[in-house]
Amino acid sequence: MNATLPDSANSIAERLATIRDRITAAAQQHGRDPHSVRLVAVSKRHPSAAIRTAYAAGQRDFGENYVQEMLAKADELSDLTELRWHMIGHVQRNKAARVIATADVIHTLDSIKLGGAFDRHAETSARRVSALIEVNVSGEDSKSGCLPDQAREIMSSLSTSDSITVAGLMAIPAAGDAHAGFERLAKLRDELRSEGAELPELSIGMSGDFETAIGYGATYVRIGTAIFGPRPAS
Ligand SMILES: *Cc1c(COP(=O)(O)O)cnc(C)c1O
Repeated sequence: MNATLPDSANSIAERLATIRDRITAAAQQHGRDPHSVRLVAVSKRHPSAAIRTAYAAGQRDFGENYVQEMLAKADELSDLTELRWHMIGHVQRNKAARVIATADVIHTLDSIKLGGAFDRHAETSARRVSALIEVNVSGEDSKSGCLPDQAREIMSSLSTSDSITVAGLMAIPAAGDAHAGFERLAKLRDELRSEGAELPELSIGMSGDFETAIGYGATYVRIGTAIFGPRPAS
């Protein structure tokens, strides 16, 4: 134990180590290279101090859901030069410029119009950003994400972009639909690949189901609660 750090610092570092071990074990169990699964630590609603602690424990990729919150934290943590921000929440088009200026990976591209806005802002600001198409795999009305059939059109709308690389697919299956949802997303990815697309990334799996997601080919798992504990009320 490090007496100069608060208890929460030790527990974040310990929980991170546990999650890394579980990722490695799940990858090996499925015959995959553990390095092919990257951990995005989801820090929404947790203070910047928690991110600093995780960074000190070697974590570099952090996921945020709200544009304002990501920007404020990016500002507070600008000295952490190796930190990569992942936008994992729904993005309104009028916030596209701010997301492009800060995020390294956007997991929630879900329309041609939003893709167009990202592309314009990335080009003007000479940024290169990786984007994953969020697919609504469980057919829920309330969820963001495009219909499976629209993924192809979103991809082709950005096929000539020098600024936005469509790198893969992302999904948040409905409760109780994780297995089927992950499988549908992986199948869609295989289908698009067979048509010539390069889509190396699959962003699936959260605290409760990331080991299952690794079995379906997750290359990014997005884990919040199991690292940072319960989220404070907003
Ligand atoms: C909050 C959130 C997560 C993390 O969820 P946990 O259950 O806390 O691990 C992952 N992905 C998205 C899109 C989220 O909004």
